[in-house]
Amino acid sequence: MLEDKNQQRTSLAELGEFGLINHITKYFKTENLSTIKAIGDDAAVLDASEKQTLVTTDLLIEGVHFDLSYMPLKHLGYKAVVTNLSDVYAMNGVAEQITVSLAVSNRFSLEAIEELYAGIQLACETYNVDLIGGDTTSSTKGMLISITAIGKVIKDEAVYRNTAKETDLIVVTGDLGAAYLGLQVLEREKQVFKVDPNNQPDLENYTYLIERQLKPEARKDVAGLLKELEIKPTSMIDVSDGLSSELFHICTQSKVGCKVYEDKLPLDPQVISACEEFELDSTMVALSGGEDYELLFTVAIADFDKIKGNPHFSIIGHVTPENQGLQLITRAGQEIGLKAQGWNSLDRQD
Ligand code: ADP
Ligand code: MG
Repeated sequence: MLEDKNQQRTSLAELGEFGLINHITKYFKTENLSTIKAIGDDAAVLDASEKQTLVTTDLLIEGVHFDLSYMPLKHLGYKAVVTNLSDVYAMNGVAEQITVSLAVSNRFSLEAIEELYAGIQLACETYNVDLIGGDTTSSTKGMLISITAIGKVIKDEAVYRNTAKETDLIVVTGDLGAAYLGLQVLEREKQVFKVDPNNQPDLENYTYLIERQLKPEARKDVAGLLKELEIKPTSMIDVSDGLSSELFHICTQSKVGCKVYEDKLPLDPQVISACEEFELDSTMVALSGGEDYELLFTVAIADFDKIKGNPHFSIIGHVTPENQGLQLITRAGQEIGLKAQGWNSLDRQD
């Protein structure tokens, strides 16, 4: 579906490991004062300061976490960084450095790795993080990328998953479900392409969905937005596996239950129309889709006036005592128990 624009093909063996590392890292500059020494020595050196350090890692494996038949390498590099940074922002922190470890088979050319690093670099510039190191090795099959993000948070201002309180409001940023539908669209086009490689996909009605799948953004802005409103969340998590699964993490760790209202779930119009087309329930998609990289957090009920009507935030429900469990209140007013992976549609009566 996506044509290979790289006509040139330089084999990685020609460069060797050190040649490759030098080549892919030479255009990276460091910007953060805490980066004392980046790439080039046995280890990077960071200034510790009086803040607390956040560290988070993700491992992505070709064929499991990404499919290069519709994921351009530049987007893959960008997304791999962004998904890590999202975890730092979900702790109420600021991301400052990343390391990138890469295993590639000889199927990949230098130009392919350059594309991957162009995406990594764009994400570094966009989010103001420094690439400070990594490791490079060969794999017998496919590509593996592991990224570690390092961030800072003011002492005792980290926001955890286990501190939601009964009666808190539950808030989510942005909208939900679009990245999952973007994946459905891309999977469908891949099947069409397999049958007829000359078929040019018409993706105009799905631009937002595809962008959310191929070029997600992390909510770096939310910490600042909340500070302006003088709100400190009582608990927070990023929406990577799906709203329902994240609600389970917060509720289980905080020993509380929740009520979430179906009619409050934020959906983009493209999500609603694509759900009709794919015959999917938009509530199911919002709850279980995943890869939204929005932030889900709880705030004290006293903050209601500060947050209501804010276009960045949707109040989708509230925290309840633990023994009430996790409930979805449908548009018809019915209570349905949430499952870690969405909800059981067979329970639904309306
Ligand atoms: P060592 O042998 O000490 O592990 P390497 O030769 O693997 O060192 O790496 C040399 C330098 O290049 C180190 O600073 C390392 O962090 C950095 N580096 C290696 N691979 C990558 C990569 N894929 N991306 C970014 N930096 C890398
Ligand atoms: Mg090494």
